[in-house]
Amino acid sequence: MHIRIGFAYTSNCLKKPAFFIELAHTSPLLEPGRFTFSGIDGIIYENPQKEVNEVRKKALKITYFLAALALCVTGLCACAPKSETASFFAMNTLMDITVYGADIQAAYDAQSIVNSLDRELSATSESSAVYAANTGEAARFTENGAELLSRAFDLCKETGGALDITVRPVMEAWGFTTDEYRVPGESELAELVKKVDFSAAAESFDGALLTLPEGMKIDLGAVAKGYAADRAVESLRAAGVEHAVLNLGGNVALVGANTKGEPWKVGVKDPFGKSSYVAVLSVADCNVVTSGGYERYFEENGMTYWHIIDPETGMPARTGLAAVTIVGESGVECDAFSTALFVMGEEKGLEFWRQIGGFEALFIRDDGTIVITEGLQGSFESSSDWEVAHREG
Ligand code: ADP
Ligand code: MG
Repeated sequence: MHIRIGFAYTSNCLKKPAFFIELAHTSPLLEPGRFTFSGIDGIIYENPQKEVNEVRKKALKITYFLAALALCVTGLCACAPKSETASFFAMNTLMDITVYGADIQAAYDAQSIVNSLDRELSATSESSAVYAANTGEAARFTENGAELLSRAFDLCKETGGALDITVRPVMEAWGFTTDEYRVPGESELAELVKKVDFSAAAESFDGALLTLPEGMKIDLGAVAKGYAADRAVESLRAAGVEHAVLNLGGNVALVGANTKGEPWKVGVKDPFGKSSYVAVLSVADCNVVTSGGYERYFEENGMTYWHIIDPETGMPARTGLAAVTIVGESGVECDAFSTALFVMGEEKGLEFWRQIGGFEALFIRDDGTIVITEGLQGSFESSSDWEVAHREG
């Protein structure tokens, strides 16, 4: 059941409401801890700002009043399309596919597409094509797997190698593949980065069969969830689903706007863990993907080492950023660019955005300040200090 206060407004990807408060019956208002990163329909979000807390207090009173009223007027909310969620574990993470006003079977069908991509692309499952490729065999990929591989090779090239799917030997040396963390020596890393070369791997791919040069290994961790989101969204749309939220382990994909034709609200997780999120994006029909050093890391001798690697040095990418969020139509691109722009850093990342376009970005610096690209203006709210990067500039 939802209780809404506000004006209706249009639902383009990056449009912000003029005014809007929405209260959901199972709102994080009552359970703030539940709101982490995903896009959730019908939230009034927690905000450290005092004014917002005041609004929340008032809103809470209104909720109780309206909830009591709703109990009296039975059937008041019967017209709200119900939502159903398929929750599952794939690609080493928890995933949710929520469909609104549609048969849950559509979500299960989308889930099975993600599951089969997981079986093919997992670097750890012995029956996967990626595992076979990494042991030096000629590995055959399905049509989807092959499409992802060729997109990934193109994206490595497009990002000038900031994204490099052949980074796996370096990931292994750091222990990120086994959770047995260690800091590799300089000479060990220098040897390993010689094996990081997406263009050599791309040459060994004929469109279906991949036979990697000796010692090379691929890792699709930076792009697989984004590609899976694209295929899952495609399947949902083909089944006639008009409103859906997919949260594939922090990669959010949105089908349409919410059932009232309003943008979804997607929280951008606080990379410093001080609050649940640092910004809210009001978006529809797009992907919102974040990469950050806080997702997987370990500490040794007072230093923090995380799982996003600069392919040139083999070291965790340290560019003054805590996280990068990308908003765009293509899930695989958003995924690739969130990792690549984290590696590039703010300055090169903005330069890349100006040259390539087709997506928007949000950078969270190590000091907590935020930079958004100009296309996010009007879709973005935050109580942190923030500035806008312009295309001409
Ligand atoms: P996550 O999958 O944790 O949400 P990313 O999309 O940024 O975050 O992907 C990080 C994963 O991608 C790492 O766990 C590793 O497997 C792989 N990876 C790390 N650095 C790179 C890189 N520079 N290029 C390509 N893949 C990378
Ligand atoms: Mg990524």
